[in-house]
Amino acid sequence: MQRWQPAYIGLGSNLDDPSGQVRAAWERLTELPATRAILRSPLYRSRPFGPVPQPDFVNAVAGLLTRLAPEALLAELQALEASLGRHREGPRWGPRRIDLDLLIQGRERREGPGLTLPHAGIVERNFVLYPLADIAPDLDVPGLGRVGELKARLAPEGLWRIEPEP
Ligand code: ADP
Ligand code: MG
Repeated sequence: MQRWQPAYIGLGSNLDDPSGQVRAAWERLTELPATRAILRSPLYRSRPFGPVPQPDFVNAVAGLLTRLAPEALLAELQALEASLGRHREGPRWGPRRIDLDLLIQGRERREGPGLTLPHAGIVERNFVLYPLADIAPDLDVPGLGRVGELKARLAPEGLWRIEPEP
């Protein structure tokens, strides 16, 4: 078993009651083995990007402490996606009931076929950086910089907070 590390998870859904899906996924994160779910950002609504016309997403970011290795945590997230009814046969950027991305884990850096850390999309995705800044504005993203500064470079275009800050 590894030492405890902070880990941040991006949650997203745009099918079948997206807010309910994100809240349900958060509840399931609290039940992961060797892991404590510490806090969740408010929910955001985001306009989808990419070639596929589809409903708006609901997004949030969760902060965990975990003793799982990054590969083991990602495997747990993928099992959770499957048990929440995500089907992988759709298009890469298409609608999904739940998407769980491992954004950051401690100071870990990876460039593998199945796992890239920090997650490759962080710096250009306002629906990741705004909720992440709600819960960890001073976090230093390995190789990329402070969350608050990364957020300040991105307009909140197509992004709306739909829950008050806790
Ligand atoms: P996306 O989240 O990019 O819209 P998927 O959820 O379908 O797309 O993930 C595609 C692949 O990305 C997965 O098979 C997974 O192995 C890989 N991947 C690489 N790095 C990560 C990461 N940090 N978090 C989640 N998935 C990752
Ligand atoms: Mg994903």
